[in-house]
Amino acid sequence: KPALGGKFTELMGWVDEIKTMAVRANADTPEDAKQALEFKAEGIGLIRTEHMFFKEDRISSVRRVILAGTVQERAKALGELLPMQKDDFYQIYQVVEERPVTIRLLDPPLHEFIPVKAEEIRQLAETMSLSEEKLKDRITELNEVNPMLGHRGVRLGITYPEISRMQVRAIMEAALEFKIISKIEVQPEIMVPLISDVKELVYIKKEIEDEIKKVFIEKGQTLTYHIGTMIEVPRAALTADKIAKEADFFSFGTNDLTQMGFGFSRDDSGSFISEYIEKNILEKGPFDTIDQEGIGQLVKIAIEKGRQAKPNFKIGICGEHGGDPASIEFFQQLGLNYVSCSPFRVPIARLAAAQAAIK
Ligand code: PEP
Ligand code: MG
Repeated sequence: KPALGGKFTELMGWVDEIKTMAVRANADTPEDAKQALEFKAEGIGLIRTEHMFFKEDRISSVRRVILAGTVQERAKALGELLPMQKDDFYQIYQVVEERPVTIRLLDPPLHEFIPVKAEEIRQLAETMSLSEEKLKDRITELNEVNPMLGHRGVRLGITYPEISRMQVRAIMEAALEFKIISKIEVQPEIMVPLISDVKELVYIKKEIEDEIKKVFIEKGQTLTYHIGTMIEVPRAALTADKIAKEADFFSFGTNDLTQMGFGFSRDDSGSFISEYIEKNILEKGPFDTIDQEGIGQLVKIAIEKGRQAKPNFKIGICGEHGGDPASIEFFQQLGLNYVSCSPFRVPIARLAAAQAAIK
C-alpha cells in the first residue's frame, strides 16, 4: 500500500498515458475484483465461473445437475443454483460497475464435480432418491481417462444446455436488477470456452440468445451485451475467420493453447515436463512466457484471420501469459486490444504494456 503513493503513482500515471493495450484482470470473487481495480485494472477479462460452483453450499446441487436421471431433477437442482449464481454476479457488478466484465460459461473438467468418496456418493444417492448402485453406474458412464481433453468447456454446454441457460439468466437478471437499483449499466461479455469448430459456437449462441430474449421479455427491459469465445484449441486458431463471423470478440486461452499446441500436460508442468522443456527445447517454460515461434504463431494466425473476417475485431488474452512482460511485448506487436492477468500482476502488466508501446 505505501508503495502506491508518491513517485510510484506519478510513474504509473505516465504508464497509463503511454500504453495502448488495455490491462484487465482475471477475478472470480468481488474481493479479487476490488483488488484488481485498486491496481487500476480497466475491467475484468475472465471470471472462471466453475470456481463459484465448488463452494460447500452448492456442490451437491452441481452434482445433481450433472448426474440427474430426469429432466425434472436437473431443473430442480439448477433452480437451486440460479439465485446463488445471480448473487455471485451481482456482487461483482457492484465492484466493477460500468467497466467491461467477461464472464466465461462453465469450464471444468467434468471429473472435478463428480463425487469420489464413498460417503459423498452415499449422501448424494440419498438426496437423489437413487440406489447407490445406479448412481455409481452413472458416475462410471461419465468417467474419462483424460478429462482435460474430454467433456469440458463448450462441450459441456452442448450436452447440458440447461447449465449455460441458467448461467446466462443469472448474468442478465443480475445486470438488469443492478441497473434498476444503481442506474449503472454493466457491460457483460459472455464468453464461450474451448470451442474447436464454429458449429459449436453457433449452437451455444442460439441457446444464449434465446435465454436472454426470455429474460428481457420477462423483465420488460434490455441491456447491451456481447457474446464472444476463447481461442484455446489449435483448430480454433486455424479456423478463426469462420469463428470471428459468429463472435463479438476473441480472448486467447494461452494456457490451453500451449498445452494442446505442444501436447504437454499443463497440470504436470511442475515436474518432468518443465525440466524437459527447459533442458531440451526452450530457455523458459512455455507456460511462463509465450513460445513465439510456435504457439505465438497460432495466436498470430488467429488474429490475422479474425480481423480479415471483421476489421477492428476486439481481441484479448486471458491466459497466464497476460501478466508476463516478455509475452506482453509480443502481444503488443500482434495488435491485441487488451491483456488480462491475475490482480497482483496488473501493475507489472501496465508497465510492460507501456514499455512495449514505446519500443
Ligand atoms: C487458458 O486456457 O489460457 C485459460 C485462460 O483458461 P483456463 O486456464 O481456465 O483453462
Ligand atoms: Mg482454458
